[in-house]
Amino acid sequence: MTQKVDCPCGETVRGESDDELVGNVEQHIQDKHPDMVGSMSREQILGMAQTE
Ligand SMILES: [Zn+2]
Repeated sequence: MTQKVDCPCGETVRGESDDELVGNVEQHIQDKHPDMVGSMSREQILGMAQTE
Protein backbone atom coordinates (compact mmCIF):
# COMPACT_ATOMS: atom_id res chain seq x y z
CA MET A 1 0.00 0.00 0.00
CA THR A 2 1.41 3.36 -0.97
CA GLN A 3 1.56 6.06 1.67
CA LYS A 4 1.98 9.73 0.96
CA VAL A 5 2.69 12.98 2.73
CA ASP A 6 1.48 16.24 1.23
CA CYS A 7 4.27 18.68 2.00
CA PRO A 8 3.16 22.26 2.73
CA CYS A 9 5.33 23.36 -0.24
CA GLY A 10 2.92 21.59 -2.58
CA GLU A 11 4.99 18.51 -3.31
CA THR A 12 3.69 15.03 -2.54
CA VAL A 13 6.20 12.52 -1.18
CA ARG A 14 5.33 8.83 -1.48
CA GLY A 15 6.68 5.55 -0.17
CA GLU A 16 5.72 1.88 -0.31
CA SER A 17 6.46 1.29 3.38
CA ASP A 18 6.86 3.28 6.58
CA ASP A 19 10.64 3.16 6.24
CA GLU A 20 10.62 4.21 2.59
CA LEU A 21 8.15 7.03 3.22
CA VAL A 22 10.16 8.39 6.15
CA GLY A 23 13.38 8.14 4.13
CA ASN A 24 11.84 9.93 1.16
CA VAL A 25 10.39 12.69 3.33
CA GLU A 26 13.75 13.17 5.08
CA GLN A 27 15.42 13.36 1.65
CA HIS A 28 12.85 15.91 0.48
CA ILE A 29 13.41 18.02 3.59
CA GLN A 30 17.18 17.93 3.04
CA ASP A 31 16.76 18.95 -0.60
CA LYS A 32 14.02 21.57 -0.31
CA HIS A 33 13.77 22.59 3.34
CA PRO A 34 17.28 22.42 4.79
CA ASP A 35 16.20 24.71 7.61
CA MET A 36 13.75 22.00 8.76
CA VAL A 37 16.28 19.15 8.88
CA GLY A 38 16.02 17.41 12.23
CA SER A 39 12.73 19.08 13.15
CA MET A 40 10.53 16.21 11.93
CA SER A 41 10.62 12.98 13.89
CA ARG A 42 9.67 9.64 12.36
CA GLU A 43 6.47 9.73 14.44
CA GLN A 44 5.56 13.19 13.11
CA ILE A 45 6.18 12.12 9.52
CA LEU A 46 4.06 8.98 9.94
CA GLY A 47 1.39 11.07 11.67
CA MET A 48 1.11 13.17 8.51
CA ALA A 49 0.97 10.15 6.21
CA GLN A 50 -2.13 9.22 4.25
CA THR A 51 -2.68 5.93 2.46
CA GLU A 52 -3.81 5.92 -1.13
ZN1 LIG B 1 8.33 20.40 0.65
